[in-house]
Formats: sequence, structure tokens, C-alpha cells
Amino acid sequence: MTIENASSQPRQAEDPPAGISRRLSRRFLLKAAGTTALTASVAAATSGTARALPRNTYDVIVIGAGFAGASAARKLTAKGLSVLVLEARNRIGGRVWTSTFAGEQVEMGGTWVDEKQPLVWQEVQKHGMALTADAPPTRSYFPTTTTGGWQAFDSMDLFTRQAQVVTPLFEGSRDWFPDPYKPFTREDLIRDLDKLSMRDRLNQMRFSAEEELLADPATSYLTGSASTMGLTELAHWWALCGHSYEGYGSINTYRPTVGSTALVQAILNESKATVKLSSPVTTVSVSGSQVSVTAKGTTYTARGVVVAVPVNVWNSIQFAPGLPTEFTSLSTQGLGVRTAQKFMMHVRGSNLGRFSAESPAASSSKITAVFPFKERSDGNIVIGFSNASSFDASNRSTVQTELRKIIPGIEVVAVSTQHWGQDPYSKGGWAVRAPGVLTGPLRAVQQPVGRLTFATSDIANGWNGYMDGGIESGNTAAGQMASILGV
Ligand SMILES: Cc1cc2nc3c(=O)[nH]c(=O)nc-3n(C[C@H](O)[C@H](O)[C@H](O)COP(=O)(O)OP(=O)(O)OC[C@H]3O[C@@H](n4cnc5c(N)ncnc54)[C@H](O)[C@@H]3O)c2cc1C
Repeated sequence: MTIENASSQPRQAEDPPAGISRRLSRRFLLKAAGTTALTASVAAATSGTARALPRNTYDVIVIGAGFAGASAARKLTAKGLSVLVLEARNRIGGRVWTSTFAGEQVEMGGTWVDEKQPLVWQEVQKHGMALTADAPPTRSYFPTTTTGGWQAFDSMDLFTRQAQVVTPLFEGSRDWFPDPYKPFTREDLIRDLDKLSMRDRLNQMRFSAEEELLADPATSYLTGSASTMGLTELAHWWALCGHSYEGYGSINTYRPTVGSTALVQAILNESKATVKLSSPVTTVSVSGSQVSVTAKGTTYTARGVVVAVPVNVWNSIQFAPGLPTEFTSLSTQGLGVRTAQKFMMHVRGSNLGRFSAESPAASSSKITAVFPFKERSDGNIVIGFSNASSFDASNRSTVQTELRKIIPGIEVVAVSTQHWGQDPYSKGGWAVRAPGVLTGPLRAVQQPVGRLTFATSDIANGWNGYMDGGIESGNTAAGQMASILGV
């Protein structure tokens, strides 16, 4: 299927007639008819169709319409269950958000997909989505001192040197993660490793000052400090990328031409779920075999709930009974990076070319990284990231001051920013596991709690922190829910 209308809204229903979302398509019934195992669940669901469900009652409620929630909803409706998706924002997608800036379609959140990410890649193929390949930079501004002082390098030369320094950091990753989709395969090896931060690892390497400058931005840009990122996190991604610098570098190349939100939309379109936007869930109460969910003054009931909001948001919802400590502690600690800001900039300058820039953690510039997006006759459109807590990336003049520390004289004409940590429905950006999370609370928070299951890319076994992980976790949570409901 080709997605033609990326901005079309999911099917929304205002209190549909009882049972309407239980209707099964003819295609589904025919498919199921040939499968013994499925026939039972279809029969159960079909008989459910006849049964008039009370108003606002569903088999399952999914909280959140990001990749994880959409994937869970699709899997559950495919089992013949009636599903209501309650989404807090007035849009679907969550931490993916296709928007516009300076007349261009841009991504304020998740952007790139890659064939090394099997689940998201499969969606792209299945929905016949065209991909745009972003050309790499030709000029890269890189630090020459730890606190500032940038120089422009030929990008290829620079990345070749960086590869030589960074690759040894992950020597051993083939032993630590022989099957990166089953990260606990060699728990005996990763248990001690998981105590180390990337900073600890850098210190072990005894790099020269020059090597440290090449390695630091590559390890600190995701959280703003190599000390807050677990060695096992970056090593895990390294393993998922085929254990190479080239593999890791290549995953930020292709983006769906119609935008990332369209990908979530395509998944939701395949579900038969009812989606209600602008419905922030405030309470979830379990009583016997019924779960009550309240959003904007309305209470909905279901036999089970998939909580598909970011880990950082768990503590914003009141659960009765309360969630186990592993959940509440991890939500307090946070997995989504709270300082994460992504901003699009329209910049002008002489001979800018297709440039990128990176900063070391202790840098004087509050801009962590800049990536090229588009060169135009009226300047360049570039992507900026920051992890500086005190930086207001929505202020054009402040952004220009910070960018001029890296590229003197550059003019920032306009800026558009999303501060993911300040967004109440994310409370953080991309997820990064701190030391101890992998072998600590992760497995506990992947498990159901009574009639609740939990889905988010933040806790995926494979591509945690990526769109692919959202699909994986949504599918897993839907499978758990199906078992709980006995379908
Ligand atoms: C700036 C940025 C860049 C990124 N770049 C990439 C990239 O290039 N490639 C990649 O693969 N990944 C990237 N990621 C990561 C990727 O976007 C996420 O991992 C993924 O989208 C998370 O999906 P999710 O469903 O787990 O969570 P979310 O997308 O956060 O979805 C959760 C949903 O729950 C909703 N919600 C929250 N609270 C409530 C409530 N109380 N009631 C109802 N609904 C609620 C939210 O509004 C949201 O829609 C990036 C992320 C960011 C922030």
C-alpha cells in the first residue's frame, strides 16, 4: 500500500455503538477459517460481536498511540479483540512527529530507519513507502580542545580516524551479545560490564588527548555525558549494527519520504482499533477481572490494559494498586533523556557546504551535534541536537550565539524546537540505559502486572530507544495480553 495522505487522522470514534469495533473484516475471517488455532479465537471474538458491550467497554485499552501502542493495537485486533487506544496528544506518533519548517517537511523526533532494524524495515516494505537517502556531510566541524575550539575537517578523513579510535571500545561485543535480540544470552559476561559507564570505558582505554577528542563526542552526544550512559547500551547497539563503526554510522541514512508519523498511521490503519485523541489518561484501577481507565473525566473499562507510554511517564499516571518498585524507581530515574532537544535551523553563511558538527561533553557550546538536511539557494536547513539543561533552543538568537562558537559568523535565520524532556507526554527524548539498568530492573518491567502489560521502545530487548524497538515491545505486550485474556 502506498501512503498517500501522511497527515490523515486515525479513525476516531465518539463512543461508537457497542461492539462496532469488534466487527471482523471478511479478509480476516477467510484467513482465519483455514487455521485451527485461530478459528477458536475468531469464534470467541465473533460471538463477542453479538454480545452487546456496555458503553465505553472494550476487551483491551491501549494507552498511547506511538509505535508501541499502534503495534499492540494491531496485534490485538487481529485476534478479534475490541481495542480502544487512548492518546493524550491531539496527534498520533508520540516521539515521532512529522512537522514543517521553512517550507520543508521535517522530523522533530524519530527519523531514520535501516534494514538492520528488521521490524520497522518490514513495515516500510510492506506499506510500499519510498525512502529518502540523506547524503553524508562533506565537511565536519570537530573539537580541537575539550572545552571548545572547533576546526573544519574533511568528513571522510575525520570519520576514518574516529573509527580507529572508537572500534576498540567495543572489542568483545561479539562475546557479550552473540544474539543482540536476546541481550541476556551471556548474562555471566555482561553482569559486571553493566556496572560500567561509557566514561569508565574511555578511562580504561588510556587514550591520548587527541584520541579522547575523537571518542568523546561519539560516546557523550546521546546524553550529554559519557558518565550517564551504560557501556552495555552502546555495546548492544554496536552489536545490533553488526559490530562495526560503518554499521553504526549507516543507520542514520534512510527516512520514509512521507514521514515517520505516516508509518505509525499505517500500522494503526491496519488495526481495527478505535482511537481517541486528546485523551490523557490519569488513573488506571484494577478490580478483579476489570480495569477502569479514566481520561478527561470519562471512565472506560476493559479486561486488560496495555500501558504504551514512555517509562518516564509511568509515574504521572495513578495506578491502583500501585506499580511494583522496579517500575516506579525506573520511571523516577528515567530512561528517556530528559535534556533532549531537537531543533531545525535555517542558517546562512559563506561556503557552508554540506556540513556537520559535534561537541565534546565539556564543550563551551550547548549544541551537541548538527547534521545536514538540505542545501538551498537561501541557505541550509540543518538539524541540531542539544543535551544542555540550561539551553533554550527555541530562541533564535541564543542558538546563533552557540552555533557561532563552532562556526564563527554563521547566521541563524529561523529555528523550530521540540524539547522532549519538557513535554508532559514524553518527559524525555530517545531512551538510553544508564549503567545497571540492563541487568537490573529491565526484565522486571518487561513483565505484566496483573491485567496490565507494558509496551515502549524504552524497554525493548532489541532496538531499545529506536522505532524498531517500539514495534517489538508493542508486539510483546500484545502477546502477553492475549495470554492473560486466554485468546
Ligand atoms: C529527537 C529524537 C530523535 C530520534 N531519532 C530516531 C531515529 O532517527 N530512528 C529511530 O528509530 N528512533 C529515533 N528516536 C526514538 C524513537 O522515536 C522512539 O524510540 C519511539 O518513537 C518510541 O515509541 P514508543 O511508542 O515507545 O513511545 P512514544 O512514541 O513516546 O509513544 C507514547 C505515546 O503515549 C502517549 N501518552 C503519554 N502519556 C499519556 C497519557 N497519560 N495518556 C494517554 N497517552 C499518553 C504519548 O502522547 C505518545 O503518543 C528518536 C527520538 C527522539 C526524541
